[in-house]
Order: sequence, then structure tokens, then C-alpha cells
Amino acid sequence: GKKFIYAKAFNGQPTIENFRLEEFQLPDTVKDGEVLFKAEYLSVDPYMRPYMARYPEGVLMIGEQVARVLKSAHPKYPEGSLVCGKFGWATHTLIKPDEKDFSTLFPLPDLKGQPTSYGLGVLGMPGNTAYFGLLEICKPKEGETVVVTGAAGAVGSVVGQIAKIKGCKVIGFAGSQEKCDYLVKDLGFDYAFNYKTDDIKESLKKAAPKGVDCYFDNVGGEISSKIIGHMNLYGRISVCGAISAYNSKNVTLELAPILQPSMVFQQLKMEGFVVTRWADRWFEGIQQNLKWIAEGKLKYTETVTEGFLNMPQAFFDMLNGKNTGKAIVKV
Ligand code: NDP
Repeated sequence: GKKFIYAKAFNGQPTIENFRLEEFQLPDTVKDGEVLFKAEYLSVDPYMRPYMARYPEGVLMIGEQVARVLKSAHPKYPEGSLVCGKFGWATHTLIKPDEKDFSTLFPLPDLKGQPTSYGLGVLGMPGNTAYFGLLEICKPKEGETVVVTGAAGAVGSVVGQIAKIKGCKVIGFAGSQEKCDYLVKDLGFDYAFNYKTDDIKESLKKAAPKGVDCYFDNVGGEISSKIIGHMNLYGRISVCGAISAYNSKNVTLELAPILQPSMVFQQLKMEGFVVTRWADRWFEGIQQNLKWIAEGKLKYTETVTEGFLNMPQAFFDMLNGKNTGKAIVKV
């Protein structure tokens, strides 16, 4: 088997120097209670960048994968079946499932013929992030205006479509004209703007002349301050992520004076979350997204990188916005 070790702590933009490829021997047999898994699809996600700061150098890179049971001595994991596992950046994993909790490993639910890789995206963690993070925190009402940043990504593309399903006007911000075209033409967003070239305030004035009611924030930073400055009374902000700051070396502490006036005078509610808050409702999110896909209301795309050895490159590409929809690696 092969695995990528977090060899050198991230500092700024990740590079190949941060990783080390290692090989390891696979067992011929499994002992009682053990299962050997083989990765089929691996996920590269933004959270890997900030989360690795909690780990020492020399550990296996963290991450989720859809894996197939290669050898099993456990009744819940028959040979040939598929799982979703937080096994890290490794081609093979030998564990005792009984020693792991739900969030680390569970059998892949029946995806009703959808690609199994969707278990890493719309029918998995990012899909649930959109579903719960939007509906439970922004609580969008019909006719309201919803803004989402990181709009063409794994989470953002689902957020915007769920907001449309709920009868809202949806405005997305993404990093290229192609992505904006995709959001409006393929996903049915009402407006999409390229945050790299379009003026944020002018875009909001045009698309949301009556102000913004809900903001699903995937990116943080200056654009978020501008969007929050355009919000209506009792607006709700779901703080999902801050990818614009994940690779920064110099983080300033200047946010409060910019945000506080809007927070106070518009009486806004801003709430952060980690999607595992809804672990006990995990399959509700998956089932609902699956139903919307089957009804043709929710579309999804993936950016697939071929080959396990390209994991680091897929990760860099995702951080640099080369993906539309979910960035995954096919082994
Ligand atoms: P995406 O599929 O959206 O991929 C990341 C995207 O971020 C890139 O494609 C790029 O698109 C955009 N991006 C990169 N740099 C910047 C920047 N400086 N400013 C604005 N956008 C940038 O990833 P996910 O959908 O998986 O994740 C989206 C966000 O949700 C992240 O912040 C992530 O950390 C967060 N998250 C939070 C969870 C939680 O439980 N709270 C769970 C899952 C995700 P572009 O071309 O538009 O720049």
C-alpha cells in the first residue's frame, strides 16, 4: 500500500515539501474483528489545511475516502461492500471497526444508483454541510434573498440550489466566469458574480436592491464584510468556513470594527458550526439530498483527479479554485 505523510508543517500555501510518500506491506490475512479496506475515491477538502495545524509532523494526512472491503473478519463489513471512512491519505487501511465511532467509519448508504463517489460530496459531508448549515442556521424563508460565497464548490453549489428549492432569490460569488455561467445556466442561480473581477458592492446593489437576508459564508475575509454590510434587519449569517484566510501568514485582528456596526444596527445573527453537530441526523441530510437529485432539483458535478500519487496536486488545485463542484481523487 501507499500513504502520504504530513512531513512538514504547512506555512502559507501548501507545497509538495509538506508531504512524504511511504509504502507499507499489506497483510495476507485479517484477524478476528479486523477489516482490510482499499480506497476507491479519496476526498481533498479545504478543512485539511487548517485542521493539520492540530497535528504533529510525521502523522498520516487526514481525510475521508470511499473504500471497498478487501478482506473481512467482521460481519458488518462483508467483502466487496463499500464504506465511508476517515482513513486518511492511504490506499489501504487495516482496522478493527469496533474500535471506531460512527463519524470515523460507516457502511456507505444505498445511493440509489448515484455514483459512489457522491458519498464524499453531495451525499456525504459537504452535502450535509450545505443542508444543515443553510436550513438550521440561516433558516431561509420563501422570497428572501440568499448570498453564498465559494458558490461553485462542493458545499456552495448545494447551498444555492437548496435555497432555490426553498423559493429564495440566490446570488453566488465564485472565482471565474465559467463558474458563474455554470451557476446561472446549469444550477439556476439568479445571479453569479466573479469576485476576482466584479465590484462586490455594485454586484450586490444590482442583484439585491432590497438587501440580503441570509448569507452562507464559505470564504471569510473582505468579501464577507462587504456582504454583511449589505444585509437586512434580522439577517442571518451561517459561518461555514474562511478559505480566503487558510493559507495566510499574516492574519489581522481588524474584523470587529468593520462588522460590529452591521451586526448591531441590522440586528444580525451570526453563527458558526461544524457539520458533525448533526451527526444524529446524518442520514436525513443524505436522504433529502438524494431525493432532490432524483427529482432533478439538485445537480452535482465533480472534478476528478486520476491516481493516488496525485493527491497533493489535487489538494493544491482545489485550494487554488481549479475545481467546480467536489474535488476528488480516483485511485
Ligand atoms: P470547495 O469545493 O468550495 O473548494 C474550495 C474553493 O474555495 C475553491 O474551488 C475556490 O473557488 C475557493 N477559494 C479558494 N481560495 C479562495 C479565496 N481566497 N477567496 C474565495 N474563495 C476561494 O470546498 P468545499 O465546498 O469543500 O468547502 C467550502 C468551505 O466550507 C470551506 O471554507 C470549508 O472549510 C468549509 N466547510 C466547513 C464545514 C463545517 O462543518 N463548518 C464542512 C465542510 C466545509 P473559487 O474559484 O470560487 O475561488
